[in-house]
Amino acid sequence: MTARNKWVHAFSEGDGRNKMLLGGKGANLCEMTRIGLPVPPGFIVTTEACLAYLDGGRLPDGLMDEVRSHVARLESAIGKRFGAARDPLLVSVRSGSAMSMPGMMDTILNLGLNPASLEGLIQATGNERFGWDACRRMIQLFGKVALGVPDELFDHEMIALKQETGAHHDVDLDAPQLRSLARRFLDVVSGHTGRPFPEDPYEQLETAIAAVFRSWNGKRAIDYRRQFKITPAMANGTAANVCTMVFGNLGNDSATGVGFTRNPATGERVVFGEYLTNAQGEDVVAGIRTPKPIAALAQEMPQMHAELMDLAAKLERHYREVQDFEFTVERGKLYALQTRNGKMNAQAMVRTSVEMVREGLIDERQALLRVPPAMFEQLMVPRLDPGFKGQPLATGLPASPGAAAGQIVFDADTAEARGKAGEKIILVREETKPEDIHGFFAAQGVLTSRGGKTSHAAVVARGMGKPCVSGAETIVVDVRNKVAHVGPAELKEGQVITIDGSTGAVYFGEVPTVEVEFTQDMATLLKWADQAARLGVRANADTPRDALRAREWGAQGIGLCRTERMFNQMDRLHVVQEMILAETPEARHAALERLRPIQKEDFKGMFKAMAGLPVTVRLLDPPMHEFLPTVAQLELEIAHLRHFREAIASLEEMPETLKLLNPRLHHQYEGSLTKLLGGLSEFKESHLDDELIAKKADVLRKVRALAEVNPMLGHRGVRLGISHPEIYEMQIRAILEAAADCVREGIAVAPEIMVPQVVTVEELKRIATLVKRVQAEVEAAAGIKVPLRFGSMIEVVRACLRAARIAETAEFFSFGTNDLTQATFSFSREDAENKFLPLYYEAGLLQDNPFEVLDVKGVGELMKLAIANGRAQRPELKVGICGEHGGEPLSIRFCHQAGLDYVSCSGPRVPIARLAAAHAALLDDEHRTH
Ligand code: PEP
Ligand code: MG
Repeated sequence: MTARNKWVHAFSEGDGRNKMLLGGKGANLCEMTRIGLPVPPGFIVTTEACLAYLDGGRLPDGLMDEVRSHVARLESAIGKRFGAARDPLLVSVRSGSAMSMPGMMDTILNLGLNPASLEGLIQATGNERFGWDACRRMIQLFGKVALGVPDELFDHEMIALKQETGAHHDVDLDAPQLRSLARRFLDVVSGHTGRPFPEDPYEQLETAIAAVFRSWNGKRAIDYRRQFKITPAMANGTAANVCTMVFGNLGNDSATGVGFTRNPATGERVVFGEYLTNAQGEDVVAGIRTPKPIAALAQEMPQMHAELMDLAAKLERHYREVQDFEFTVERGKLYALQTRNGKMNAQAMVRTSVEMVREGLIDERQALLRVPPAMFEQLMVPRLDPGFKGQPLATGLPASPGAAAGQIVFDADTAEARGKAGEKIILVREETKPEDIHGFFAAQGVLTSRGGKTSHAAVVARGMGKPCVSGAETIVVDVRNKVAHVGPAELKEGQVITIDGSTGAVYFGEVPTVEVEFTQDMATLLKWADQAARLGVRANADTPRDALRAREWGAQGIGLCRTERMFNQMDRLHVVQEMILAETPEARHAALERLRPIQKEDFKGMFKAMAGLPVTVRLLDPPMHEFLPTVAQLELEIAHLRHFREAIASLEEMPETLKLLNPRLHHQYEGSLTKLLGGLSEFKESHLDDELIAKKADVLRKVRALAEVNPMLGHRGVRLGISHPEIYEMQIRAILEAAADCVREGIAVAPEIMVPQVVTVEELKRIATLVKRVQAEVEAAAGIKVPLRFGSMIEVVRACLRAARIAETAEFFSFGTNDLTQATFSFSREDAENKFLPLYYEAGLLQDNPFEVLDVKGVGELMKLAIANGRAQRPELKVGICGEHGGEPLSIRFCHQAGLDYVSCSGPRVPIARLAAAHAALLDDEHRTH
């Protein structure tokens, strides 16, 4: 046999680092075996065998021979024979690929059972009920996974039997009842497949391995890989782990459970998990029975508890990472069935990172790299307003933190459809199964009426950072009729509820939420991030309040202050409109003079908030008509005003008409009618309405004149500054006067003025001349020097191509990648994302949304060109980015590699960007040293 076609590796010989070949679960089973942990013996059929199977449609030649010889080794190791009539060896076949995809692929248990070996099992265990229970589970699982029998057919038999026998739970069924169930299940299988259930253990094993391989291409596995962007380079095919069965359901000295070496919801250093006495593994994960906390094991089986604590400690010391493990106690003996790195929420990731460094388990670099930057978004998840005092309608387990409100939906397909349509959805289920995964993606949060904190719903929601409440047992879910009952209350599909995954509470209606606060651990981790990063991180902020918050989040400056957002505030919009509508230079000047002090205060607020850190103010960018009412609105208002005059005329005729129709009524209201008409005629005389109509018509004329077919490519940005220099002059003066005031008050300032939409250096030079003149005037008037940097946005293609010339005048560049992406693709940034882009990703024409993840190959090339040419002209040129990409981790990685000085993003993304900047630097170093 050559190394190439070795399809099978025993746990005792496999390379624990080769996850690509053995899958994560298989590799870890090898590793745990190697370090002496109590793993039941077994072997792994490799991912290469899976790919060969998927490629050729059959298991590769020689594979089953290898499997047989490994089974023989198992037999001699534990002294039992596979599927034998006396004390048989039974095995499980478990899926497991290089990337953890919990519950997304299939597993089959108890293989090797047939009428003869079942007798043997019952004799060996002395437990008839156990034997039949194992048997019926195996028939159902094998039938469903390997033979494609619909699960409902088995469920139907189970429900029927429970009804016939009056049993409430599975555990209420006794041995004869389970035997009858197993027989019904066998009939279900033969009825559906037209063949008897296979009794030959090796036929079972072969069919099971093939079925597990096929599950790599099952719908939920494919959906999961797509959602989490798992490429073939990260995981290609699943391994099939064949493992000796150990039983947690052999009586009250047996148990099964799952554990985390630390609490995955908080990060606290306590072994956290759940177990069930006398049960099999799926019972815990599927949430069919509500399990007990691991702490309870200390009372129930003290020796096992002590061994379990020891196991957890060894796992952490070995992997230097929080582990999520499965265990089984079979008649007083503890076994480790699997381990993997624990999926935790962001809060727990941060806390464990910081604590593991303090404990000496990992270093700062590892602490940073183990937290995915995008995860920090979870730390910005809203929480319920602490002032909220409402009574919950039900309470379950706090399974994944954060609060979410949405309309109830009872099935994953509807959740997917409505979620994609932009609705806010809470997926409500009795329990969730892996096939519900697409519903999770689309929902704001998940609520289940059954299951523990390690149930499927909880684990998946936590991984996604979505709020989840599980095991809210007072809620009775009726999926068929799309309704749930909580005592007398009824919850219908479409009704809004709020769930709080941090406390487990469920409320009627939408409850107000608040942002989370920065913890000390977050601050510590981000401090390490800043030390590791080369890129600076600034924030995009337009108000002093946002600027202050951004600083709390660690922003090292403001990279973009969009002054138009200041213009748009209600208290000044009318002055801005006056300025735009002004017919004469004098009128415009007067309006601008009223705006200047307001703007100056704005800028002072920004400078004070940033206390000497750079503040990049962008001069006015959007087309002017954005500040004016729309044509439609004005036309409507004018029409209403005109109708008003006609309405008055009709009212004047009213007394006479009323007299004719109903003299009594006329008499009753004569006094008030006369009064009303008197008032109206006075109004008519004043001609106020005419004046207003004339004014509105004037505005309408102006709005029509300003209208453009393509405003985003029209009269905006520096073009406005060229055609209306007085507007830019007012802004420049306000910035510099604000800075001068601050300097005088002893407040450090570092203002930067940035010009948007620059196409040619000539535009920039004009504005630079204006800036110089105003700066000289302000400095002369104030008698002090005002520090200032002058730069250009780089957001049109020509600016990238002409960067060398632009850098003659610009002291810094700031890439406006929102517009630059639009310009590079010729995709409208207003429309593309909800028109044709989704189709493009689905068809594989584009991998990512270029407005979200920077298009390195196109936009990135333009940026690199601009940086190289700009710096060739001006070596000290500062370069940043202020488009949305500045807060997106993959784009930040590119910005680091392209040699930018800083990224700037919205405030809440600053922590993400700080961590991403550290990752970029650390990964870059790693790359270089390899
Ligand atoms: C940009 O285009 O990337 C940018 C930051 O400017 P705005 O989004 O305001 O056009
Ligand atoms: Mg722009």
